[in-house]
Amino acid sequence: MSEPLVIIGNGMAAARLVDDMAKRALGRYAIAVIGEEPRLAYNRVLLSSLLADEVVAADVELKPARWWRDRGVTLRYGSRAVALDVAARTVALADGGRLAFSKAVLATGSRPIQLAIPGVDVAGVMTFRDIGDVDAMRMRAGPGARVVVIGGGLLGLEAAHGLAKAGARVTLVHLMDRLMERQLDPVAAAMLRRAVEARGVEVVLEAETARIAGAQRVEAVELTDGRIIPADLVVVAAGVRPNAALAAQAGIAANRGIVVDDGLATSAPGVFAIGECAEHRGQCYGLVEPAYEQAAVLAQRLAGRPASYAGSVLATNLKVSGVDVFSAGDFLGRDGTEAIVLHDPGLGVYRKLVIAQDRLVGAVLYGDTGDGLWYLDLIRSGQSVAGFRDDLAFGRALALRAAA
Ligand SMILES: Cc1cc2nc3c(=O)[nH]c(=O)nc-3n(C[C@H](O)[C@H](O)[C@H](O)COP(=O)(O)OP(=O)(O)OC[C@H]3O[C@@H](n4cnc5c(N)ncnc54)[C@H](O)[C@@H]3O)c2cc1C
Repeated sequence: MSEPLVIIGNGMAAARLVDDMAKRALGRYAIAVIGEEPRLAYNRVLLSSLLADEVVAADVELKPARWWRDRGVTLRYGSRAVALDVAARTVALADGGRLAFSKAVLATGSRPIQLAIPGVDVAGVMTFRDIGDVDAMRMRAGPGARVVVIGGGLLGLEAAHGLAKAGARVTLVHLMDRLMERQLDPVAAAMLRRAVEARGVEVVLEAETARIAGAQRVEAVELTDGRIIPADLVVVAAGVRPNAALAAQAGIAANRGIVVDDGLATSAPGVFAIGECAEHRGQCYGLVEPAYEQAAVLAQRLAGRPASYAGSVLATNLKVSGVDVFSAGDFLGRDGTEAIVLHDPGLGVYRKLVIAQDRLVGAVLYGDTGDGLWYLDLIRSGQSVAGFRDDLAFGRALALRAAA
């Protein structure tokens, strides 16, 4: 008889895990997936493109209903798991239902961080995580609407771009002295700022939000330096926090995220965690690639094969049309590293490659990111670049020809 396996969370990590398991361990488990959002799993990465009208809603669905049915998966979407009992081996649902499991996987993702300032509860202040947020933003941010986006990271920039494309007058306020400071060095960040401003987004740096003003609805964002920016809509994009509450309530070890070992196992026997909710070797990831790598390892293990997850090297791509940005690894360069820099302000091209002991350890690309995945492979493999270091900055084609 198939072993009951319950996956809590119906997001990108869960969908990939089911896909991988269907290939490796079909029939071994009776899989049930519980998802709080009232829809099939979708590609959350594409929400920015959906907001910017670059894809339509049908494009974001990961798998059609039939795909799940054909794999014998019981889908409980629109259903929130409210308690996990690791001793009784059951999951309680908000609708009163209860599912028994032999093994369980937590794939509950993250929640957006809301700022701890006055006024965040007023109507017209929102975060950007779900497809429902895209619908709400579109309703409120028609042509001429005044929008303030708080946060100049990847998500804030993508939200600002999408809303500006919809005709809103967008101001992006960011606490730090440059955009995407966790992925870009100052040169690339300055180029990015110019490009974003050219697309109609006003950028205000080193700006700390003091409060959001408005009685019934949002009216303005007030900065600590006294500036007041009028707003009909405020989008807070101040980062995410792993969704570890359910696990913590169940007595499973959690710090920032749910603590997992190299086998993606939590502190509770037979309970695993993958994706943004998981904390592995002290690291919580906010990107989809690590979630997919974890899903692949867990699928192998659940199929009874040895596999181990050793962590992921992060790479970031910004999805603002016409603005190509890529960043991976140690892009700032620790002590003991060297940077090869190619900068053509006229063409709007910038490449910085960080080298340590003849190995590529980080890269920032702006303008032409076509070689990004090649640089990422070099970082991940740790292979020596000594044989083609002269041409490394000019990209794969030239460097490999020179090395041949
Ligand atoms: C607008 C946007 C753009 C992004 N762009 C990129 C990008 O370009 N590149 C990139 O790598 N990453 C990007 N990301 C991040 C990426 O989407 C996430 O890394 C990925 O979705 C993580 O997958 P996950 O399954 O861990 O979490 P999620 O996809 O968030 O799935 C978790 C699911 O669990 C559900 N859930 C939570 N608690 C419960 C519960 N108690 N009961 C039932 N269900 C529950 C949630 O409702 C959610 O549907 C972006 C994210 C956003 C919001």
